Amino acid sequence: MLLGGTVTDQHSPALENLLSETRSFPPSAEFAARANAQPELYERAAADRLGFWADQARNYLTWSKPFTEVLDFSGAPTARWFADGQLNAAYNAVDRHVEAGHGDRVAILFEGEPGDTRSLTYADLKDEVSRAANALGALGVSTGDRVAIYLPMIPEAVIAMLACARIGATHSVVFGGFSAEALFSRITDADAKLVITADGGYRRGKPSALKPAVDEALTKGATNVTNVLVVARTEQDVAWTDGRDVWWHEALAGASTEHTPVPVDAEHPLFILYTSGTTGKPKGILHTTGGYLTQCAYTHSVVFDLKPETDVYWCTADVGWVTGHSYVTYGPLINGATQVLYEGTPDTPHKGRWWEIVAKYQVTILYTAPTAIRTCMKWGEQVPAEFDLSSLRVLGSVGEPINPEAWMWYRRVIGADRTPIVDTWWQTETGAIMISPLPGVTAARPGSAQTPLPGISADIWNDAGEPVGKGGGGYLVLDEPWPSMLRGIWGDPERFKDTYWSRFPGTYFAGDGAKYDEDGNIWLLGRVDDVMNVSGHRLSTTEIESALVSHDWVAEAAVVGASDDTTGQAVVAFVILRGEAVERADEAGEGHDVVAELRNHVAKEIGPIAKPRSILVVAELPKTRSGKIMRRLLRDVAEHRPVGDVTTLADTSVMDLISSGLNAAP
Ligand code: ATP
Ligand code: MG
Repeated sequence: MLLGGTVTDQHSPALENLLSETRSFPPSAEFAARANAQPELYERAAADRLGFWADQARNYLTWSKPFTEVLDFSGAPTARWFADGQLNAAYNAVDRHVEAGHGDRVAILFEGEPGDTRSLTYADLKDEVSRAANALGALGVSTGDRVAIYLPMIPEAVIAMLACARIGATHSVVFGGFSAEALFSRITDADAKLVITADGGYRRGKPSALKPAVDEALTKGATNVTNVLVVARTEQDVAWTDGRDVWWHEALAGASTEHTPVPVDAEHPLFILYTSGTTGKPKGILHTTGGYLTQCAYTHSVVFDLKPETDVYWCTADVGWVTGHSYVTYGPLINGATQVLYEGTPDTPHKGRWWEIVAKYQVTILYTAPTAIRTCMKWGEQVPAEFDLSSLRVLGSVGEPINPEAWMWYRRVIGADRTPIVDTWWQTETGAIMISPLPGVTAARPGSAQTPLPGISADIWNDAGEPVGKGGGGYLVLDEPWPSMLRGIWGDPERFKDTYWSRFPGTYFAGDGAKYDEDGNIWLLGRVDDVMNVSGHRLSTTEIESALVSHDWVAEAAVVGASDDTTGQAVVAFVILRGEAVERADEAGEGHDVVAELRNHVAKEIGPIAKPRSILVVAELPKTRSGKIMRRLLRDVAEHRPVGDVTTLADTSVMDLISSGLNAAP
């Protein structure tokens, strides 16, 4: 682990420190006074970390058999948390709220893309989940089986996950946008017995089909799928395989609302979920029950400051992404939240749809991704300005580093310069939030995820595995086990060890580069696979992208290193412009050479070494379905190679557009 000695000159810094940001936004006194998390939380956790987690497990969850052990790491790198306890996830998310007299509280405020709405109370949810659990049982699914879920963002997605958890079946949710091929590989990898899907869902103003992809997936090879349960959402015509296909509404109509949740061991597999694939072939991440739920519920309460009686919470993530697991299904429901679930895209039927939803449901807590914020910046602030957003009191960000200027825009335009923003760093693998400000405690620094949460231990190390300390840059590591940590990669223990535990033997390496600023805040600097080496300087993609986004004309930027004869690698940038700003500059006679202007801007902001060799103005960037930029594909383009695996890309035509633009560029 630690190699001892001082940081020596033999090791070049893992990353250079370019941007500096000192703006600071402390919480208001009123917010701080009422916040769920107070400053003492850090001290309590530091004084007795395992005791702290045991307290959270008891506070946030109801155990059918109390645990006596907290952590067993003797089988490292696979941890066991609360291992002799038993519980049921669906009971914790649903039944106990009804038993506590909150059955009338709304759990889900559903807004379909065409404008249809449904509201489900906790009592409704209990009935639906129980019926679905009985229906799964009738189809022969039982504790320990795997179920693939391939649904749009409709209440049945949450109900299906909870129904699996209720009987102790392990779910594997696959993004509704993925192809038959991707679905087939996930069905076989997890050896699913049942697939839950829908005829289709509404996207971009029209019904799009889902069931045909399932039909096709099941012809691609042998599987052990015995039934396909189909939700009728769009009422499109679907092909039907008698004996295999079953309508959800018919299966549930005959099922009882009485169902006893199956208590499972804390280490029982709750779900498998594949990573988004920004760095390579997606990995099937395995999460278990007790530790995962503990950290989901705890973080959801302290990071978003949820007050279940009064807040209306909305996380815009799809359930096909880990954020949809931890912060749509499990965290909020365990905490008894009222939440919005929206089926569609942000710009259907108009670019203000999200803000219209915030105003309509009086949303108080909004959790979304930087890509969405940057897209709204591109569309212009006159769009949200048309809606009353005054109900908002906490804003969250997840998925990528949020550039400081995007953070400022989010706070000013969406948060009326008043709401705390929590920039939450975590991964599919970590299961729940790890590094984030606490909204009532931390003085927020735009663009930085800042501080490990109470109970979490993280650090930044250099190449030799030594802490870099304040002002230093290097590799982000998690140097103590945490309750919601992954328990492995499904079916591939070697890849589990190689990917996370071999860079620094015995310590979890997250794959991300990071730095400390002079105040000790943690800044995420992008994937270490994406770090550029320009004339011996190791530069982070994030810092150069943030410098580009700090220019008025730029809404979004992606930077990659392309091989270069003189400098080893050169910086190549792809930028999306903010329409209104460029027009203004044009009118003022300034907007003629966008590329020269932006190259100079980067040199001025962070130094000549970071000046991009080329900048390409594009209309779109390649992104995963969860909205992350796929830099490895841009690197392929910049180095004139055929592009790599695009199966998790939201829109594959984007790559053709960019490649043709690049070839046409001077
Ligand atoms: P794959 O592992 O297949 O390449 P992925 O890493 O994109 O996919 P996720 O687990 O969804 O899949 O994403 C986690 C990653 O997202 C983190 O490792 C980090 O790079 C990035 N990330 C998430 N939240 C933040 C944040 N708040 N700030 C900076 N980066 C973030
Ligand atoms: Mg990853």
